[in-house]
Amino acid sequence: MKEITAKEFDSDVLSAGKVVLDFYSTECPPCEALASKFEDLSKLYGNDIKFLKIYRQQNRELAEKLGVKSSPTLIFFNDGKEIGDRLSGGVKRSDIIKNLDLMLPETRKKEIKTKIKHFVSEYDVIILGAGPGGLTAGLYLCQSKINTVLVDIALPGGQVSTTHEVSNYPGFIEPQAGYLLSHNMSEQTKLCGTVYKVAVDITKVDLVRKEVVIDEFETIRAKKIVIATGTTPNTTGASGEKALKGKGISYCATCDAKYFDDKEVVVIGGGNSAVEESDFISRFASKVTMVHQFDKFTANKKAQDKILANPKVNVIFNSEPRAFVKDGEKMVTEIENLVTGERTKLVSDGVFVFIGMRPNIDLFKDNLQLDQWGYIISNEHMQTSIPDIYAVGDVISKKYRQITTAVADGTIAAMAIAKELN
Ligand SMILES: Cc1cc2nc3c(=O)[nH]c(=O)nc-3n(C[C@H](O)[C@H](O)[C@H](O)COP(=O)(O)OP(=O)(O)OC[C@H]3O[C@@H](n4cnc5c(N)ncnc54)[C@H](O)[C@@H]3O)c2cc1C
Repeated sequence: MKEITAKEFDSDVLSAGKVVLDFYSTECPPCEALASKFEDLSKLYGNDIKFLKIYRQQNRELAEKLGVKSSPTLIFFNDGKEIGDRLSGGVKRSDIIKNLDLMLPETRKKEIKTKIKHFVSEYDVIILGAGPGGLTAGLYLCQSKINTVLVDIALPGGQVSTTHEVSNYPGFIEPQAGYLLSHNMSEQTKLCGTVYKVAVDITKVDLVRKEVVIDEFETIRAKKIVIATGTTPNTTGASGEKALKGKGISYCATCDAKYFDDKEVVVIGGGNSAVEESDFISRFASKVTMVHQFDKFTANKKAQDKILANPKVNVIFNSEPRAFVKDGEKMVTEIENLVTGERTKLVSDGVFVFIGMRPNIDLFKDNLQLDQWGYIISNEHMQTSIPDIYAVGDVISKKYRQITTAVADGTIAAMAIAKELN
């Protein structure tokens, strides 16, 4: 592995055969998360492919010329030509390998894979998920001198990191940018000394043996596991939704309704949460248009009666969204009537989607006691039905899912664990 400057780009990259180039920056948590993976892979692939690093801040002109806009960015070159995908953000080892493999013949790829050494690392506690719940558990455990590792499939921060603004987290007078709040939570836990293994592929979780396999070659063992993997909101599948998440489309009324004072809003959904949240949004918005796929709501009767009597709420049944488009400050929602096939455009100031959430438990749901919606049942100490397995935050069965409730759960689990382990 070698560090280069822009001056050496032509000789060391464009005229140097097979190369992977890492544009990194200092004070960049995703760069830190990548560094050990990059170094480790350079040892495996280093005889075939050159591993180069370049400091982006001091080589800005080259970075701009190559269109590098964030750190880290990995670019792969074969005989001077860029190949594969550029990787940035939370870069996974498996994604780097996919791109490296593009440059090698099949036999060599297989040969290299046989050199991957599997190993076991041991901790007192594994925390799965580095959102507010997991980060808080990590902080408390670390401050109790308990050897803890935080494992996440993405970068730390959880849902907060993609939230535009948080105005209801105590201790801050002004609303906080979500990325900043989650960054500060993460740095506090990391500074304490909690080990981070983030942007990894989790290939196996065995809750009974208390083992987690990451990136296929490292088995992490512990005395206890805290599950803090949160939830994923169901999406409509309509075009534009992914790109406009947090930029016009929201999945949380408690968090975002207040930004729609006297504005018009479209709500997708017709179950209990859609109906209850629409009622809540109507305290702020001047008009709420609900779009529901069936000819009647699936929410309970009382909630239905209340929403249908709400003068600010207008309902369009038998319809589904097909596209979301931003037009200046406005959101355009194209809906299709499922009976007639007719398409209409609804112009509003924002869209809320409430078509259910999925707890992130697919890898380890066996043996865990779940509620009827698939959330993990935990007791007042956050213990689950499996001994030494705890669960905290949005992934557990509870009524209110907020940052404050997740950090409270994380605190409780960590204090209960610390008491047991000490
Ligand atoms: C758009 C939006 C805006 C919001 N705004 C607010 C707000 O203003 N105020 C407020 O209080 N609440 C808000 N919330 C709710 C709040 O974000 C959540 O309640 C909170 O983040 C829950 O924390 P958590 O740690 O339980 O889970 P998450 O924050 O969801 O974190 C879970 C972590 O687990 C990781 N993970 C997932 N699967 C796995 C796996 N298999 N293995 C390992 N790791 C895994 C994820 O990558 C993630 O980092 C908002 C939610 C959304 C969606």
